[in-house]
Amino acid sequence: MTAPTTTSNIMDGKAVAAQIRQEVAEGVAQFQAEQGFAPGLAVLLVGENPASVTYVTNKAKSSEEVGIRSEVYRLPADVSEAEVMTLIARLNADPMVHGLFCQLPVPEHLNPIRIQSAIDPAKDVDGLNPISVGRLWMGEEALNPATPLGIIEILKRYNVPLKGKRAVIVGRSTIVGKPVAALLLQEHATVTIAHSRTQPLADVTREADILVVAIGKAEMVTGDMVKPGATVIDVGINRVPDASKKSGFRLVGDVHYASAAAVAGLITPVPGGVGPLTIALLLSNTLTAARRQTR
Ligand code: NDP
Repeated sequence: MTAPTTTSNIMDGKAVAAQIRQEVAEGVAQFQAEQGFAPGLAVLLVGENPASVTYVTNKAKSSEEVGIRSEVYRLPADVSEAEVMTLIARLNADPMVHGLFCQLPVPEHLNPIRIQSAIDPAKDVDGLNPISVGRLWMGEEALNPATPLGIIEILKRYNVPLKGKRAVIVGRSTIVGKPVAALLLQEHATVTIAHSRTQPLADVTREADILVVAIGKAEMVTGDMVKPGATVIDVGINRVPDASKKSGFRLVGDVHYASAAAVAGLITPVPGGVGPLTIALLLSNTLTAARRQTR
């Protein structure tokens, strides 16, 4: 794979995501020609959380664009866990559904881990069933979470060396920090996971050849915390007030872009970095799931 051409140290997540979507579209067309049906993705959306509605709408639209059939199951906010489980069992058994996930967060009365555990690991395109998580750490075949997979993809497509390199991940969430750590280990990086109790954080981040930041704190990691020449992956998406914008806010990452970009060898911007990769890898996961279920 050739690295996207660049005249700066910016890693263009939009361009890489477009490349991946194109590859998925080609894979879907081939799958359709071989099997006589398209891969199918089912999405559960519980309640009306506006951000979740937007995410689900975008995911469904993006699926259709690459030829994946998508079905959104909108459930009322007061749906019982038993009803959710019944629907998941039905979708698990449906041979036309190859990928299945429940948009998070779910209302308080529902237990997300029980819901994720109910999803067939073969269809678990979010990679959050404990079986998928365990298989990832064991180095066994599994579907893995989309954002971490997107991070590995952009690193590889920019030919960033991983083997034997020092990778530091700031953040230890189940959805980003931990799976990125597991995937970088699989790539033979030497991995450190830092978090809110790491002392002193800057000493750890300055060791990184590859620094992945997923903390949810606007512009917290500054240039003085970055080793010169390091590759910086900024996962954060934070809204900060900005009176000059019509919306009244702008999006920033967890990394202070200007100061970090001045020392980094490569860096992902926000927006336009990791964000666009997440949906692209969800689509890729759905195709992977469909291929594995029909092989
Ligand atoms: P979580 O809130 O689940 O986890 C945050 C992690 O950051 C925790 O492990 C926490 O440590 C750590 N942390 C918090 N404050 C500090 C600090 N001051 N110093 C060091 N570590 C700290 O967040 P997520 O992983 O879900 O998301 C992280 C960011 O990534 C958010 O901005 C989110 O919006 C974004 N995101 C973007 C996605 C995309 O598609 N681009 C997808 C998913 C998330 P501790 O465990 O000790 O509390």
